Amino acid sequence: MARIAIVTGGTRGIGAAVCLALKDMGITVVANYGGDAAKAAAFNAQTGIATYKWDVGDHAACIEGCARIAAEVGPVDIVVNNAGITRDGTLARMSYDDWNDVMRINLGGCFNMAKACFPGMVERGWGRIVNIGSINGQAGQYGQVNYAAAKSGIHGFTKALAQEGAKKGVTVNAIAPGYIDTDMVAAVPPLVLEKIVAKIPVGRLGDASEIARGVAFLCSDEAGFVTGSTLSINGGQHMY
Ligand code: NDP
Repeated sequence: MARIAIVTGGTRGIGAAVCLALKDMGITVVANYGGDAAKAAAFNAQTGIATYKWDVGDHAACIEGCARIAAEVGPVDIVVNNAGITRDGTLARMSYDDWNDVMRINLGGCFNMAKACFPGMVERGWGRIVNIGSINGQAGQYGQVNYAAAKSGIHGFTKALAQEGAKKGVTVNAIAPGYIDTDMVAAVPPLVLEKIVAKIPVGRLGDASEIARGVAFLCSDEAGFVTGSTLSINGGQHMY
């Protein structure tokens, strides 16, 4: 029987590319999303991939959503924690809500999804969790104390949970993308973006498919000896 994967934030950007890469591997993929129903419907029409809406930062909603998928699609073997937001601003301008929303969704979402799906993976003796971190969690970034803290937290979360899964056939890894050409980066002012691209040794933004290929490898049977690691895919911008 085909393996089953949930990709959070899977209906656009990096998540959509991940869904397609996993589908190409013969995996049954389900895409979660947070609120953009039009994008989700278009993605479903284009790909045939089922979409499920819930807020990954809401613990109860995650547990319910994953239980629904288990009942309607089957037991979940693979989780890609990709959903993420930015609420940028210097510390002086950042509100508590800006801090809390980013922590709740970007880092809390990983905990919520693991609570819902990790026990089943352990019970069945096989599982893959891939958490999408960020170069800005490794290097820090001006105006992003919330985002850098959440993404940096993902790397610690990954290494700790990897130890719990190691003897049970469940690997837990992270990918730290550099700047990738998606809606999230399109929101960066053009002059700032120009300066960012100038600092990327390969001289361009990454493509979502380049992150997806890394995720696909970490989700494969061949990657069973890779756990607790972070794969940096950033055009050489930050060598960690
Ligand atoms: P996009 O903004 O293009 O897409 C974000 C996705 O996350 C959307 O599908 C969105 O759903 C979903 N999402 C947002 N909030 C929630 C929520 N509360 N619950 C469920 N889903 C939610 O982002 P990218 O594709 O650019 O980024 C994907 C991941 O990669 C993020 O974690 C990001 O931090 C990380 N990353 C991105 C980089 C980049 O350069 N683009 C660089 C480094 C890391 P909806 O469509 O419904 O809004």
